[in-house]
Amino acid sequence: MKKVGIIRCQQTEDICPGTTDFRITSEGKLAFEETGPVQLIGFVSCGGCPGKRAVARAQIMVDRGAEIIVFASCISRGNPIGFPCPHFAEIKAAVIKKIGPDIEIFDYTH
Ligand code: SF4
Repeated sequence: MKKVGIIRCQQTEDICPGTTDFRITSEGKLAFEETGPVQLIGFVSCGGCPGKRAVARAQIMVDRGAEIIVFASCISRGNPIGFPCPHFAEIKAAVIKKIGPDIEIFDYTH
């Protein structure tokens, strides 16, 4: 079972506790159809705009065993209010630069 760390939008925490993410990771659905059920080893926010804290938070999840870093759909797709993160491209690039090419990146959860 692959180990996964999820990064979510801090601004979305007020309206979403991440219920769907917990369900689909445990069931291996939607973004996790190819991996099958995964072990969630961390579920952190970006730390608030403009998301710089996501870089260190991704690294600590890798240090704790994450093989895949996943950006939740609240960041990339703007779920559930249709308002994607305007900093997503920069956050993603900075995270990849920090954690290196051996860690898989998923752009969404559902
Ligand atoms: S930087 Fe993006 S992901 Fe983080 S709180 Fe702001 S809008 Fe949400």
